[in-house]
Amino acid sequence: MRTVSPYQPSIAQWVRTSTALQIATVALGCLLSAEFASRFALSSTGATVLWLPNAVALSALLLTRSSLWWKFGLTQIVCELLIGAGALPLPQALGFAFGNLLEVLLSAYLIRRWCGRNFAFSNLREVLLFAAVAMVLAPGVASLLGTWLHYSAAAEHVSFLEHWQTWWLGDGMGMVVLTPLLFGWLREPTEAPLAPTRSWLECSLFVVLLSGLLYLLLFFVPKPDNAWGFSSMLLLPFFLWAALRFGTLGVSLVGCLVSLLAIVQTYHGRGVFSLLDAHIQAQLLQQCLATLLLTGLAVAAIVNDLGMKYRSLEQAEQKLEVAHAALTVLNQELEVRVAQRTAELERLATTDALTDAHNRRFLMARAGIEIAQAQRQLHAVSLVMFDIDHFKHVNDSHGHNVGDRVLVALSNAVRKELRLGDTFARVGGEEFVMLLPRSDADQALLVAERLRSMVEALEIQADEDLVLHITASFGVATLSPAISTVDALYVAADTALYQAKDSGRNCVVAYKAPSEPALTKLA
Ligand code: GH3
Ligand code: MG
Ligand code: MG
Repeated sequence: MRTVSPYQPSIAQWVRTSTALQIATVALGCLLSAEFASRFALSSTGATVLWLPNAVALSALLLTRSSLWWKFGLTQIVCELLIGAGALPLPQALGFAFGNLLEVLLSAYLIRRWCGRNFAFSNLREVLLFAAVAMVLAPGVASLLGTWLHYSAAAEHVSFLEHWQTWWLGDGMGMVVLTPLLFGWLREPTEAPLAPTRSWLECSLFVVLLSGLLYLLLFFVPKPDNAWGFSSMLLLPFFLWAALRFGTLGVSLVGCLVSLLAIVQTYHGRGVFSLLDAHIQAQLLQQCLATLLLTGLAVAAIVNDLGMKYRSLEQAEQKLEVAHAALTVLNQELEVRVAQRTAELERLATTDALTDAHNRRFLMARAGIEIAQAQRQLHAVSLVMFDIDHFKHVNDSHGHNVGDRVLVALSNAVRKELRLGDTFARVGGEEFVMLLPRSDADQALLVAERLRSMVEALEIQADEDLVLHITASFGVATLSPAISTVDALYVAADTALYQAKDSGRNCVVAYKAPSEPALTKLA
């Protein structure tokens, strides 16, 4: 997303559209800034407080890819020759031009190498590296060359070292004052600006208060016998204000305006610096501007860096929230699936795979519960056990598959006869049990007899053209003081079933304790 910073007029976008325009801008910037620097030189040697053309060229290099640097380098050389024309002999003008080019190229190369293509004064490291390279290292080397050339041409009345220092600081300060401003102004924005909190009211207040202070600092002609009451360091809060609220571009705009105004006013003998000796004036101005600008740029960079980190932290937090929500949904889905799977496993663990009737384990557990409840509430529970008669014969005559189908058909038919609360289980190969809560012996016998005749009447379509009829024998046992546990009830029903088999099969027998005279036999 392309965004336009509040300081960026459309002219910056227009300049970015063509290399020719950029070269023309650099040339114009070099010539105008050189004219300003030479016109308002404070030092008696002609060395300037701010040498701005190099800053213009450096901004251009930092804004373009290195394959285009030669165009701007050439432009700078031509401009330097034009600036020196008339005032300097050609070899010396050429020497100065190449010295300045060296300064700019060295700065751009080292900044690009150490900070990468995305350099933008956006963190403290970048600001410190910029100051070290463009204010100290590159101007130091280039001004040494320039001073040597100057001295080789004509002897001077100031020392070599003094001349070198003024030149060095003039070039370095030019870089610090103008490069961040031009770079920030012409740079294509890559990031959306941080939440705009500035208001017109704040901007107006800033301008009014700063103008007032600048008026007090720079627009009076001090009298030698009258100590000047205002310190240039009163500007520091404004640089901090600009850094905190208006960013790097705000600081550099304020710094540039203050610097130019201070130089012009000092040149005309006005303001806090005008009482001093011309040479000290330049040095003090440079020191003051360097302190203010570097502090402002560093604070702006720290604020920007913190803002970016805060923003990425917020984005990470949002991503984390989205991931957490997705995880919660996944978790819920997983819980549902686990519940379904558990239910399925429970069903499998309590169900007979062939007939879908409950298995023996489930029956015994259920019987335990029902018996306990029946004993507490004093009601009856009965168990009906039945076994298909001569089932081996079915298997032997028609095969195991047919036998299976008979078992399934019988189970389905029995299940239809169940009441709510009854439990039906397959406890052996062709052996089944029905648990009948709240059924006494008589009721259980009736149920068993109903089932027996149902089984007898059942027509089982065992194969396409095979209809089978079967019978089953039934044993019935009911909870009593003598039969008071699950096992006892089960054994009693089993005993009754055996007695039914012994009595000729296809009948119902109710269990009677051995002391009792006879078993009830139905059918
Ligand atoms: P009885 O009237 O005395 O009960 O005679 P029976 O033949 O029914 O009893 P027996 O115990 O002699 O035989 C039971 C048969 O049941 C033997 C076995 O092959 C068969 N069987 C047991 N489980 C299955 C099964 O799951 N499928 C099939 N098809 N047959 C089974
Ligand atoms: Mg049998
Ligand atoms: Mg059997």
